[in-house]
This record gives sequence, structure tokens and C-alpha cells, in this order.
Amino acid sequence: MMARALKSYLQDPFLNQLYREVRQAGPLRSISVDLTHVCNLRCVGCYYFTEGMDRYRSPRDERVFDAFIEREKARGTNFVTVVGGEPTLAMDRLQKLYRHFRLSVATNGLRRIPLKGFENLPIGISVWGSPATDRRLRGSGRVEVFARALKNYRNDPRAFFYYTVSPGNADEIEPVVTRCIENGNAVLFNYYGDLARKGGALDARQGFGRVQAEIERMIGMFPERIFTTAYLSRVVTSGRLYDEQWGYQVCTSLSVDHPVNRERLKNGKPFNPHFRAYNADFQTTRRCCTGIDRDCETCFDTWEHFSWIMLNLRKHLGSKGEFTCWLTTMYLFYWINRIVDYPAGLQRLPEIHRRVNQALEQPPFSSGQSATADQALLVETEKTITLNPEIL
Ligand code: SF4
Ligand code: SF4
Repeated sequence: MMARALKSYLQDPFLNQLYREVRQAGPLRSISVDLTHVCNLRCVGCYYFTEGMDRYRSPRDERVFDAFIEREKARGTNFVTVVGGEPTLAMDRLQKLYRHFRLSVATNGLRRIPLKGFENLPIGISVWGSPATDRRLRGSGRVEVFARALKNYRNDPRAFFYYTVSPGNADEIEPVVTRCIENGNAVLFNYYGDLARKGGALDARQGFGRVQAEIERMIGMFPERIFTTAYLSRVVTSGRLYDEQWGYQVCTSLSVDHPVNRERLKNGKPFNPHFRAYNADFQTTRRCCTGIDRDCETCFDTWEHFSWIMLNLRKHLGSKGEFTCWLTTMYLFYWINRIVDYPAGLQRLPEIHRRVNQALEQPPFSSGQSATADQALLVETEKTITLNPEIL
């Protein structure tokens, strides 16, 4: 029945097209790597420095880095999220990774990644709020981080702003988004976790209700330039995926080789079986991309929530609307990271938002009920579809 339901959802030509593109692209075997342990900023509550991840030093010896690339190629890695530290401070190594893997890079935008040699690189530029908020939280009160990033990436089609919104700063969202879009860029939202326990406007315990409403308003205003769907944002801000509550026990982005995760990987919840989060020494791994011992209650990371949804297809088979929310999340992950055709996806973005918004108005989302699924039917479904067998 489930398999038949899936087939019937795929009768819809729009959904069918997204589904086919993702299937054709094939499974992603992903890792994250800190390209360097240094950064030219010290943002308040940066997960990297808060947990002292910079104690793992990037080696000067280029052979260590080359050996890392070769090991990962041999392991079958085909997608690398490059973080750090600030990756643009190790541009030659970034170039090497770009030559060998599909990449996504997170940067603070202070140094421009040249077009030459990085023509199709998705570049997520972090911004945390209005120019004043960004200067205060990230530029030590002096550096105009946002303004410099805007200048460096003006009309650069590779660039989108990765906008970390804090719960008490919802009124900054429209002006910041407007500036990014007027600059010729797009926006993907992220959510501040207040690792430094600054409290006040930054305190996630007050909830992201106003932020969520503003994000949905931005999707309405700029559907062709907002990469976050209302569904993805609701999952992150509520921490709910059907009957599950976000946290370590359900998190899917864990280093599978790290002993600290051994018990979690046995609990029956999905996880990415290839994933490793490498430190800047290019040898050791840590619990997850964004944490060593960090309290998972402070984690509102968008990419980790993308993965949570993507690896939970089986929860989303109860209706066409739910499947639409799953498939669009899956597709957008592939599309933002340029694993499927980019120009075609850009044309589709408004329709994706329209479909997701429509789905969210229908049960079970509107009633808050969750779909239950018969295990045998799920197995049948999994046999029927071969979409990324790694994640099913
Ligand atoms: S730019 Fe990124 S790595 Fe550097 S301090 Fe800020 S959040 Fe941390
Ligand atoms: S900090 Fe976030 S990504 Fe890391 S284990 Fe916790 S929930 Fe997962």
C-alpha cells in the first residue's frame, strides 16, 4: 500500500522530476573537514572555538593533506563540507579538494573565493544579523563583516548568505534578507544556539516563534531567493519530526568511526553510515561536525536538520503532502550543493515553496498528528524504491 502510495505521489510530473534528478545523481557519501584551525574572526559563541577544536592543528606538511584526500577517495567519499576555522585562509588546499570532490564551503566572507578555479562552488557566507549585530557579535565591535562580505560577493551566483537568526532579533530579518537579495545573492537560514550562554535576545529557550513567522513571511516576499522552506524551518525551530524530538539520540550526522557514538549507532535510529567529521589535523574525527561534548540542546544547525529529514523518508509516506515535504528537502540539499542542475532548480524554487506551503496546510501537519506506518509496508517500499539505498 505504501509502495503504491509512493507510486501515486510520483504520478505528479513536478515531484517526479525532482525525484528522478536526485536518483540520477546517486548516493552522497559525505564527510566534513576543518580545512584549517585558524580564523580571522572570533565570533561570540562560535562552536569551533568554544569547544577548543583548534587544538587539532592543520599540518604544514602537504603530504599529510594529500594522503587524506587519497584515503577519502579510496573510501568512496564524494561530497565534502568544508568548515573550520576559516577555509579561505587555506585557499590552495580548498582548490585541491575542489578538484577531487563535490564541495560545499562555509566562509565568513572576509576574503573572496576567486571565480577562476572555483566556478561551480556553492559558497555559504555566514551572517548573524544587521550590520550592527554582526559587527558586535562577530567583528569584535570593529570589523564590518557583513558589509565586506556583501562587497566581495556582489552578484556572485555561487554565493548565498547563511543567515544565523537569533530568537530575539526577528525584526532584523527583513532588512538583512533584503540587503542580501538586493546584492544579487540568496538566503539560507540557520538558527543561533547561544553556546556562550549570553542570554537575552540570543537565548534559544525563549523559542523561535517570531523568527519562524518572519522566515515564512520572507518566503512569501522572495520565493525565488530563499533556500529554506517553511517545512525545514518548522522542523528546526520546533525540534520535532513526527514523534521524535531533536537531539543526540536521533541525530544522523555523527562520525561513524568515533567510539563515543558506538551506543547511539545501535539504537535503531537512522544515521549516515559514511559520515565522519574530520578535525584540522586531517586524521582524527570528533563526535559530530559541530560538537565534541556540546549539549545538543544548543544545536539548531540547519544542515544537520536537513539530514534528519532526509534520512527519515519512511516517516513521510503517509500522504502526498508529507512526501512533498521530504522530497523537496532532499532535492534542495542536492540543489543548493549543486549536485543536480542548478539553473533548472532556480526556476523551480517558487513552485517548491508553493507546494510545501500547500502541504503544510493539510493534515497531518495542520492537526499536529503524525503518520504511523506499518513496518512490513515500509520494507516493501524500501525494496520498491532504490533511491539512495544508503539512506534507506
Ligand atoms: S568566522 Fe566562523 S570559524 Fe571564525 S570565529 Fe566566526 S563562527 Fe567561528
Ligand atoms: S551537537 Fe547537533 S549535530 Fe552534534 S550530535 Fe548534537 S544534535 Fe547532532
